[in-house]
Amino acid sequence: MSSTNTHKRVSNDEILYLMQNASLKELGLRANQIRDSLHSDKTITFVIDRNINYTNACWVDCKFCAFKRRLGEEGVYVLSFAEIDSKIDELLEIGGTQILFQGGVHPKLKIEWYEELVSHIHTKYPQITIHGFSAVEIHYIAKISKISVQEAILRLQKAGLSSIPGAGAEILSDRVRDIIAPKKLDTKQWLHIHEEAHKLGMKGTATMMFGSVENDEDIIEHWQNIRDLQDKYNGFRAFILWSFQPDNTPLKGEFPHIQRASSNRYLRLLACSRIYLDNFVNIQSSWVTQGPYIGQLALLFGANDLGSTMMEENVVSSAGACHSMNQAEMIKLIKDLGYKPAKRDTAYEVLKYY
Ligand code: SF4
Repeated sequence: MSSTNTHKRVSNDEILYLMQNASLKELGLRANQIRDSLHSDKTITFVIDRNINYTNACWVDCKFCAFKRRLGEEGVYVLSFAEIDSKIDELLEIGGTQILFQGGVHPKLKIEWYEELVSHIHTKYPQITIHGFSAVEIHYIAKISKISVQEAILRLQKAGLSSIPGAGAEILSDRVRDIIAPKKLDTKQWLHIHEEAHKLGMKGTATMMFGSVENDEDIIEHWQNIRDLQDKYNGFRAFILWSFQPDNTPLKGEFPHIQRASSNRYLRLLACSRIYLDNFVNIQSSWVTQGPYIGQLALLFGANDLGSTMMEENVVSSAGACHSMNQAEMIKLIKDLGYKPAKRDTAYEVLKYY
């Protein structure tokens, strides 16, 4: 059960002060209090889904990415419809309800290819929700197809796309983006694509990747950008933050001093997200990058959702994060904290309590 956040809105100066001065315990208590006021029935949700990375071909060259391949490079692939179908069949066997469908940004595929693909999945598996195509993919699909962003979203929506993941946001500060992903869409463009989707009634999620070259002010700029947009359309269903995974990435080569972010930093930022993002009902724990036990602790630092079982994950595992968890383990971790585990759908509606 969720209700409206009645806590007083926190300013940028206030959150900066908390980030830099509050104790970990204080942040956790404050974030948890807000979470409990929004989710008063003590339910912690999770979703059974599967990442399907339909291609790893990508021209964008983000420096933090160990997943992408250039066309013609060894290991580059585009999944066939039959391969995608067999992955969805496996997902259905374990009671899955959603596919997180994302690729690299393929330099040649146009809107017609995506429409056919989405329509194929939606027609064959109407019970599966397609949560797919990040802002960077949609931006490029529109550009290469010489159509507007609005038309690209509408056509994909008509074909069966339900929701847009927040990937590609990294840090929504152009100072940071210019360093870590100079070819990627800028802050304004990322926000514009989500705004267009929200206007068309297509909801999505917002994400943040920290732990590269950003400072605290950049993080607050990111939070402010998404909080402002959420004030306008309430189109983000959840916020998810994860830490940069440096292994095998060009960014680590360029900035060798960058280390994997600590669990302490993750929990502090998670709690501050809950405190600042007062118009987000759902905040996910990122056990995929943090491991199951920090993922569990995140539920005491403001998160109300344990995310997904992640039947298949290729992007952060390419960069060194290799955690896994099944439904039974998730239920156990939630019960261990005295909360009620529940399987949910993409819209955060509870499907089943355990
Ligand atoms: S993060 Fe995504 S857009 Fe960036 S290089 Fe990797 S696959 Fe391409």
